[in-house]
Amino acid sequence: MKITDIEVIELRVPPIDQECTWGEDALLVRVITDTGLVGIGESDTSPMVARAIIEAPSSNLYSTGLKSLLIGENPLEIQKLWDKMYWGSNYLGRRGAGIHAISAIDIALWDIASQFYQVPIYMLLGGKYRDTIKAYGTFIPDDIPAQNKKIVRKLIEQGYTSLKFGGGILGDDDDTDVEIVKAVREEAGDDFELQIDLASKWGTYGRSARMFKRLEKFNLHWIEEPILADDMKGYKKLSGLTGAQTAGGESLTTRYEFADFLKYAQPDIIQPDITRCGGISEMRKISELASMNGTKLVPHGFSTGILLAATIQFLAASKDGDLLEYSQSDSPLFTSLTGSLPALENGNIRVPDCIGLGVELDEELISKYRINS
Ligand code: MG
Repeated sequence: MKITDIEVIELRVPPIDQECTWGEDALLVRVITDTGLVGIGESDTSPMVARAIIEAPSSNLYSTGLKSLLIGENPLEIQKLWDKMYWGSNYLGRRGAGIHAISAIDIALWDIASQFYQVPIYMLLGGKYRDTIKAYGTFIPDDIPAQNKKIVRKLIEQGYTSLKFGGGILGDDDDTDVEIVKAVREEAGDDFELQIDLASKWGTYGRSARMFKRLEKFNLHWIEEPILADDMKGYKKLSGLTGAQTAGGESLTTRYEFADFLKYAQPDIIQPDITRCGGISEMRKISELASMNGTKLVPHGFSTGILLAATIQFLAASKDGDLLEYSQSDSPLFTSLTGSLPALENGNIRVPDCIGLGVELDEELISKYRINS
């Protein structure tokens, strides 16, 4: 079997000259083979940048677009191809968008392998540890603190037993942050599992430490990205405070960055995103690092059903993979691109015994939101 083409699809809901927020654009790939098998992948990144990294012609030995590196290769040689992409793009890649693009292709290669061997991806990864995975819902908070009670009530009624909120105005003003957390905690009840995500908007160790203290009485499960993951000393000091656990790392890529993050930042939880960190292949290596460092891994995920499907397969095959992030985005790229999303049963989702990612792309929706030809 040989790879004959890689189709790159850029999707975007708002027009290109208008603001785009989380979940409103996407970068998909289809890895096409000479046998008719096609693998699907995605990266939650800047679609136009990742497309260039895949489609660029070769400039030199170290600056080669990923597509030209893979044409003619056997898609089943997943790790060998990962290494080839990493090496052949290392001037322009190595971290950031270069690894985002590799992630999308890596996911598609696992999709092909599962179809070729006719066993689920979790089986190729070593087996299924669990039939169900607890899902925590992530929502963007309303600007008016009290309005968040309604959102929380609705999600608890759907069956969620764990929730996170972040984005929107969270992190803009300390007093408002406290008010929002207070409203959500009141509605959810004292024992409900609750976490918040600052998207690094608190910015500094000092402000974060003050906020950790102010929020201590609300018994948060974790506080995510109070500061940039690059501020590893700040993270280490925050992790030493009592109260909520520290979580972060969604913007980091590769085992190399996570090795440093684990060593120097010592977070309680790391959150690699399978569509950014280097795909399923690299996620497994990062997972091993986390387990050797006494750190929990809870994958980040706030994009399409492709990300969700790949994350579920990884978690099913991961010894400690017992918590899934479940976006509450109302973007059509999340709600409709891959048909129906996994159903919530008592706060859990069931691991599908499907071949490949098990997602069927809505071609009409792709035509409607595609911005490249
Ligand atoms: Mg986050």
